[in-house]
Amino acid sequence: MLQPLRTPGRRLSLLFVSGLSFFAASPSGAPVPVFEQGGAMSVEQVMAMPKIDAHAHLGALRPEQLRAFVAFLERTNFRWLTICTGGMSGSRLQQQIASAQEIHRAYPSRVAWATSFSLENWGQADWARAANATIDDGFAQGAVAVKVWKDVGMVLQDPDGRYVMIDDPRMDDVLGPLEKRGRPLVAHLGEPRNCWLPLDQMTTASDRRYFANHPQYHGLLQPQIPDYARQIAARDTMLERHPSLKVIGCHLASLEYDVDEVARRLDKHPNLAVDLAARIVHLQIQPREKVRAFILKYQDRILYGTDLQFGGGAGQAAGSDPAPALARMLAEYESDAAWLATDQDVPVERAREGFASKGLSLPAEALRKIYYENARRWYPGL
Ligand SMILES: [Zn+2]
Repeated sequence: MLQPLRTPGRRLSLLFVSGLSFFAASPSGAPVPVFEQGGAMSVEQVMAMPKIDAHAHLGALRPEQLRAFVAFLERTNFRWLTICTGGMSGSRLQQQIASAQEIHRAYPSRVAWATSFSLENWGQADWARAANATIDDGFAQGAVAVKVWKDVGMVLQDPDGRYVMIDDPRMDDVLGPLEKRGRPLVAHLGEPRNCWLPLDQMTTASDRRYFANHPQYHGLLQPQIPDYARQIAARDTMLERHPSLKVIGCHLASLEYDVDEVARRLDKHPNLAVDLAARIVHLQIQPREKVRAFILKYQDRILYGTDLQFGGGAGQAAGSDPAPALARMLAEYESDAAWLATDQDVPVERAREGFASKGLSLPAEALRKIYYENARRWYPGL
């Protein structure tokens, strides 16, 4: 069992009140506004406390690779939520599900999993029945959520060529039962706004590199695919149609370019939370105080996640040594911890060469929520 860490103290001994605490006691006893707190944890302390990576992807692993990976989770005190994203291929989804189930069964305290449903037989009479059967079976095998991927909105088409969006009433056959049962949907819908901008207007070097190398995914070059505004609008409509459905919007709900946009959706849809997976760079390039205030205000609805992948292909071909991949993952975890917990200047090559972002120095209570408690609340059973 993972145990919550006691409040660590470095500069101040902070006494946190329950819930959304806006004040903490300074050593003199005078209240310190939460916006002035900070520096409560070091990178080492963050790495030692129980954490959940609420958005990651495990591939197929040989037994010795799996053992090395689990030892890494033990060492870094992480639990992984590995998310299946079968989407258009039913057989690929079944492989992912089988692998996730097996690893979860072997290491339930370190690896949790989210299932998904196939779109391969979309439009056929038994689509919804088959999708719900896969989902039910997943829950019976310990899955904590259902993933819907961006192929809804960007790939899946009806026979007439129209793209199927997440607010399509036919999707209610899957979303309705989840809502009724109080099971969460983990939703990667749309892409970063950069996807629809020319390369030279993209805000991060990493997006520029990715879309330069993958023009087939560059929305600007694929005008037949519904654009950014359509993707976001469909998702927002879905949130409205299912006000009790818990939705964890992956990748800052694809509103990564401006925390004010995320805040607007969080205000409007109490059923929405967001994960940080692969989008911390977009926070690191926004004004620090604005981002810090956003995170403090919504500290109960932000989940730490990375989108890290381990196993099954890239960098993990048969016979390969897992050590370099684990070292890269550790470096990423430590860099994120330095940025969230300390006020160090953290190098962010993904933004642009030579760029550094000053850490947010978040209070310990907010860190514990973002790294651990929120994931447990938004994904019951995790
Ligand atoms: Zn992902």
